Amino acid sequence: MIAPTILTKTLKEYFGYDKFRPLQEEIINSIFKGNDNLVIMPTGGGKSICFQLPAILLDGITIVISPLIALMKDQVDGLTTNGIAAAFLNSSQTETEQQEIFKKIENGELKLLYTAPESLSYLENIFNSQTISLIAIDEAHCISSWGHDFRPAYTNLGYLKKRFPKVPLIALTATADKATREDIASQLNISHAKQHIASFDRKNLKLEVRPANDRIKQIINFIDDRPNESGIIYCLSRKATEKVAEKLQNANINAVAYHAGIGHEFRAKTQEDFINDTCQVICATIAFGMGIDKSNVRWVIHYNLPKNIEGYYQEIGRAGRDGLPSNTLLFHSYGDVIQLKKFAQSSGNVEVQLAKLDRMKEYADALSCRRKILLNYFGELISEDCGNCDVCTNPPQFFDGTVIAQKALSAVARVNGQEPIGTVIDVLRGAQNNTIYEKGYQELKTYGIAKDIAWLDWKQYITQLINQGYLEIAFHENNKLKLTDFAKDVLFNQQKVDLANLVEAEKEKEEQKKKKPKVSKNSLFERLRAIRLEISTEEDVPAYQIFSDATLREMEAERPMSDEEFIRISGVGRVKMMNYGHAFIKEIISFTNEKKKKRKVDTTKKTFELYQLGLSLEEIAEERKLAVGTIFSHIFKLYNGGENIDLNQFIDKHDLDSIRKAQEELANPETLKPYFEHFQEAMSYNTIRIGLAILNEKKS
Ligand code: ADP
Ligand code: MG
Repeated sequence: MIAPTILTKTLKEYFGYDKFRPLQEEIINSIFKGNDNLVIMPTGGGKSICFQLPAILLDGITIVISPLIALMKDQVDGLTTNGIAAAFLNSSQTETEQQEIFKKIENGELKLLYTAPESLSYLENIFNSQTISLIAIDEAHCISSWGHDFRPAYTNLGYLKKRFPKVPLIALTATADKATREDIASQLNISHAKQHIASFDRKNLKLEVRPANDRIKQIINFIDDRPNESGIIYCLSRKATEKVAEKLQNANINAVAYHAGIGHEFRAKTQEDFINDTCQVICATIAFGMGIDKSNVRWVIHYNLPKNIEGYYQEIGRAGRDGLPSNTLLFHSYGDVIQLKKFAQSSGNVEVQLAKLDRMKEYADALSCRRKILLNYFGELISEDCGNCDVCTNPPQFFDGTVIAQKALSAVARVNGQEPIGTVIDVLRGAQNNTIYEKGYQELKTYGIAKDIAWLDWKQYITQLINQGYLEIAFHENNKLKLTDFAKDVLFNQQKVDLANLVEAEKEKEEQKKKKPKVSKNSLFERLRAIRLEISTEEDVPAYQIFSDATLREMEAERPMSDEEFIRISGVGRVKMMNYGHAFIKEIISFTNEKKKKRKVDTTKKTFELYQLGLSLEEIAEERKLAVGTIFSHIFKLYNGGENIDLNQFIDKHDLDSIRKAQEELANPETLKPYFEHFQEAMSYNTIRIGLAILNEKKS
């Protein structure tokens, strides 16, 4: 057992945090008891600290297995800025670089060593000569061929427990599914491991789904509202990533495409630019993301529907790792569903894939709290609606849509279930095009019976009818729309149909705009961000590794102006305070002083305006709820600043005479105090000051 105070002290000293996140402390304690541990925690949940903190306190060196070079580098950067001795060993390094690391290990200078499973063999001499304190296997789902990122080299890792039966082993992943979890434990030979399963709820992520109409325009508006915020746009195809990136660039947005088809070098550079905040938006296939622990991704957009909820949740999980409110937006279209069904049908495991796609679609079509549906998928039940998804904040309003439903269903009946959605809508709206004329649909009774409803609105109503089970899409027959048995009740038995009012994304956006104050480029946050960028460029470390957005936000709110105040900010540990405290404190102080100065200028200006209106000092004081003395000093400042002010009205003749006499008697002293004492404190400093100003002006 280890004393809880030591753990919290280490957490603050090295990572700058005051409190553990859920399960972190429990997991760390379990390591100290010598247990093996399997940790299931969502992306951004805070898995790294679970092994990094014990590594600091335990004797010897902790070995961390991590699948990607980028990921290792990132974590080592993070540890180093916090003053924790860590390094990584992989095939990208030269022999000299590797020798240096080995030397450090021999000298007992490293607490953590990151490496890829492929490089395990390099470690034999370390294994033979060093005390291994802990073995951590990050992204442990890579070991399971059932998981979504299977890496053959991970399967060798079962060896570690056999080689080091007494060294605690910890495996960590964000993959929730039970079969994969058990597979991980058995392959790693830790079947008796303690399992720690965290809640998958990420409350700071706002969930939103919109119909995929005019996506580019919606995205441009979305980004325009968030001028400095980093975000990722996931697309289904490489081509789409390029198209979207190009359109955004045309709208002056700093966006770049990323997919497996672009050169390795360019990919690395794009990733680096994004991590370093020099590229704002990445339009990517799902190849992008693993290996990126950037904590200030502020939003994630899915341009296309993802193929399952696991993938979707992992992708949106990349937003808001720092815990600050972050946005997610999913565009939903039937075109995507059709495409994904085709993919699923050509995959190995058709039924499972299709079932997963169905769940994804149900989520996108949901008319009740989306978070409930998501968490439910991961086997977690919440009793309250979340209040942070589009359905909760803007619940659908239902109306009697029976007539609309009857029109749509009878149009489907009239074309004998032989047409896809688009043609059915064309019939309803009386469109004039080839298909219509070739098939003679202009003769149908339903032709043009619902011109009053816009094309895109029809699409949404028909989607609702599909979701309610009145229509279905025959994916095997070119996506023809078919009536179901339920449809007959609507057409022939007066069955009523409720439809949800359509939300107009644009209208909603306008309203939000009114509510939301524009972000100021000159806010303290932006200035602190600039300092952070400067330091990160100089040190060649990602900006978010210097301080997270959450930490900068707290600095903005608390305005620490001394070391004691600075170290109280969450995310500031001892080493970061020593290295960066000065630069940030300095900026906070100068920002605050500028603000004060500006406020002062503003306040004298207001007094002047009232003076010009002819108010007396007392009246101005009353109006402004300030002391008369303060107003006096404003007036005096204005007078010295050259404003046209007649000081004579603020002093009576008798006082002015007394001051003149005193000036002669006291032989014109340089300060005011002799006058004050001369009048035995009966005349105020302000009156003396004004009197002297008048007398001196007369003289000159
Ligand atoms: P995961 O590996 O589970 O995706 P990370 O370990 O990368 O998550 O942690 C995500 C973010 O949360 C990081 O920025 C990390 O510094 C931060 N974090 C971790 N633990 C805490 C804590 N106790 N308090 C505040 N922030 C934390
Ligand atoms: Mg991680």
